[in-house]
Amino acid sequence: MFEVIAFDADDTLWENEAYYRSGRETFHQILASYPLPADLDDRLDATENRNIPYFGYGVTSFVFSLIETAISVTEQTVSAADIQRILDIAKNMLDARVDLFDHVEPTLRHLSESYPLMLITKGDLMHQQNKLTRSGLSGYFKHVEVVADKTPEVYRAIFERHHLTPDRFLMIGNSMRSDILPVLELGGHAIYVPSKLIWVHEHRDLPEGLSDRFVELEHLGQVEEWIRQNGR
Ligand SMILES: [Mg+2]
Repeated sequence: MFEVIAFDADDTLWENEAYYRSGRETFHQILASYPLPADLDDRLDATENRNIPYFGYGVTSFVFSLIETAISVTEQTVSAADIQRILDIAKNMLDARVDLFDHVEPTLRHLSESYPLMLITKGDLMHQQNKLTRSGLSGYFKHVEVVADKTPEVYRAIFERHHLTPDRFLMIGNSMRSDILPVLELGGHAIYVPSKLIWVHEHRDLPEGLSDRFVELEHLGQVEEWIRQNGR
């Protein structure tokens, strides 16, 4: 029997990466009147990766990277009006509605009747809390952890804080890098539910020699049945 079942939020319970893709498209439109390098997206990817240690994950970090990239690729000629339009990308993302994926609500409702559920998400604290409130799902979660990153150390600290045994912990998420590999490394169980869109930063190949503590499912609607059959 699992002691706790934990869920990732972004791109596991609700749409997220789609808003970043759309933000990038608007960014391209804003800069369309400037002479731009062909590798604009690669330069933005590199800036985002470089900025994570400074600004963490989330929309705030993203918009700093958009502005920094705009300044760099326009050789410091980007106008204040265009910087304002880039800031508006972030505000629109923060205001965007929370679009739940299929199967999410009934799955959480049913599982929460038998297990304590935990939400583990990384990103801007205020934005993640707002999304959870607006999702209408907060009542299903006994614990909510908004963390700066999802490393093995962060999961270990969560296990200690909640007195959890790794072998009785199940994590469900769309990111191999953040939701699956660190949990398996610590001896926990993980269900990988790949999302249609994933940020290149979160991509990792499936682990070699798959653990019997790991399973990949196509969508969240299959989770409840899998737990019923395997939920020791
Ligand atoms: Mg995710």
